Amino acid sequence: ELAETTHGFVGADLAALCREAAMHALRRVLPDIDLQEQRIDPEILEKLFVTSNDFMDSMKSINPSALREVFIEVPNVHWEDIGGLDELKESLKEVVEWPLSNISSFQRIGIQPSKGILLFGPPGTGKTMLTKAVATESQANFISVKGSEILSKWFGESERKIAEIFKKAKQASPCIVFFDEIDAIAPIRGSAAGEPRVTERMVNTILSEMDGLEELRGVVVIGATNRPDLMDPALLRPGRFDEVVLVPPPDENARKEILKVHTGHMSLDEDVKLKELAKKTEGYSGADIEVLCRKAGMIALHEDMNIQKVSYRHFKEALKKINPSTTPKTKEYYQQIAQKLGRGL
Ligand code: ADP
Repeated sequence: ELAETTHGFVGADLAALCREAAMHALRRVLPDIDLQEQRIDPEILEKLFVTSNDFMDSMKSINPSALREVFIEVPNVHWEDIGGLDELKESLKEVVEWPLSNISSFQRIGIQPSKGILLFGPPGTGKTMLTKAVATESQANFISVKGSEILSKWFGESERKIAEIFKKAKQASPCIVFFDEIDAIAPIRGSAAGEPRVTERMVNTILSEMDGLEELRGVVVIGATNRPDLMDPALLRPGRFDEVVLVPPPDENARKEILKVHTGHMSLDEDVKLKELAKKTEGYSGADIEVLCRKAGMIALHEDMNIQKVSYRHFKEALKKINPSTTPKTKEYYQQIAQKLGRGL
């Protein structure tokens, strides 16, 4: 029965649960016991039984760690793993890396660093990668939370969780807090489906945490969204996400760089010309290109398990199977938003 009711518990959680149940039993028999001070009479211990009820009561205070923990990561993505986006890498260095590693220079000349940056653009264009790379390169810790997960996993306690995330970030500073799919937790007020009040309260929590960020030097918030037009504009006011940057679908040059990254470890035939492939991949995002390269490799293996190299014909075959995820319309849509926000690159 216990095994059934402890779905999602890892070993450490089960150990904590058993300990808590034992403590519960002790407190039941000896309500005034001070476990730091007192030795327990062995006779009492001998008669002490941990009951099913002790376990059930303990379940209320021990949650599975996957849901409880805010994980601090140390990412391992480097600038050179990201093809293209050169200007963006430079601005991220300025906005994120400088304040984290040179806060005293900002103080000396008397300007406030940005507290947050919002990356927007179509899916698979490298927003997450950029955030991880800037954490790696500035030797910062990294806490990543998905908007949709905050709502589903932490339902009913999401504000508390957000406060906890900021608390952890302060403790682990220098630290980058990454809110992926931030539109899910910060939709335009009153527009959220389901529980508008929950999201409104969450936005307020994020706002007040970000307002307090001056004192918490060494914490930078990065948000990412595919739908900035659905976001609460309160988050875009100065002093919050004061940098709002478009991560566009890659142009031909950027696609060549991305192809270079993803074919870097492949054994390529001489007839594979990345420049040519870059021309043929209009509309492909970074993520699409990654899938395309893998597909070309798989097609080569299908042809012959002993094949030595992946050739152009394999890529041509792969191009027929993997479609681009963006259209000229997508590009236009994001350009328009960038213009409206006035802060696109
Ligand atoms: P987003 O956060 O914008 O949805 P991600 O950063 O998660 O996109 O990218 C998904 C995957 O696509 C990455 O793991 C990477 O393999 C590939 N990718 C996307 N953009 C690039 C890029 N500019 N250079 C190299 N790989 C990329």
